[in-house]
Amino acid sequence: MTASPERAEQLRNRLAEVRDRIARAATDAGRAPDDVALVVVTKFFPASDVRLLAGLGVTDVGENRHQEAEAKAAQCADLGLRWHFIGGLQSNKAAAVAHYADVVESVDRPALVPRLARGAADAGRVVEVLLQVSLDPPGRDHRFGADPTGLPALADEVARTPELRLRGLMAVAPLDDDPALAFARLAGIRADFLSRHPDATILSAGMSGDLEAAITVGATHVRVGSAILGSRVGVQ
Ligand SMILES: *Cc1c(COP(=O)(O)O)cnc(C)c1O
Repeated sequence: MTASPERAEQLRNRLAEVRDRIARAATDAGRAPDDVALVVVTKFFPASDVRLLAGLGVTDVGENRHQEAEAKAAQCADLGLRWHFIGGLQSNKAAAVAHYADVVESVDRPALVPRLARGAADAGRVVEVLLQVSLDPPGRDHRFGADPTGLPALADEVARTPELRLRGLMAVAPLDDDPALAFARLAGIRADFLSRHPDATILSAGMSGDLEAAITVGATHVRVGSAILGSRVGVQ
């Protein structure tokens, strides 16, 4: 698939809108607009879109499936982008992900740590890690993310692994909850976490629908897909 001028124009306009939203939310929260980095989530969309986005000044892209991410990172290797792996990570894929991901945002259990470290060592690189924390209300089963009570042990495990660099936390607001409430819980979890790991200052939270709420509680990175690339329904 090659990029059409129409697609380039569409991405340019939507990217400008999202950058405006980020700047406005940051200003409203008394923060500097460049305090909040944009990770454009390109899952389901072709490498040609990634290339257009790079031409529009995008530096960071996110993917959530290993095979798709690996292929796209290889196709776009000349662009100098930072690749964020943001999806649920199977243990048997972790070493392979560490070969191309600059940041793995979805580390949610200790079993991933030695596997990521092995992949990073094989590739001769240091991989940045965010711990994904569950924002599901207490008592509910959580499918994604570490239970907040398990965070200190997981953080210590990453921090003592030389091939990995602990950079902060990542979270997704539960679908059936008010994002402002979920992100308020996140702010509390982060304050605890920062008291033990003061250098791990990244907070990756907020997507197309809730980036303002995340920026209000201190998100340093937002992960935005559909507001820029369009609906994923019917793509692929
Ligand atoms: C898909 C995805 C996003 C982007 O979601 P949009 O609503 O399309 O902006 C962000 N974070 C994660 C973890 C995702 O899987």
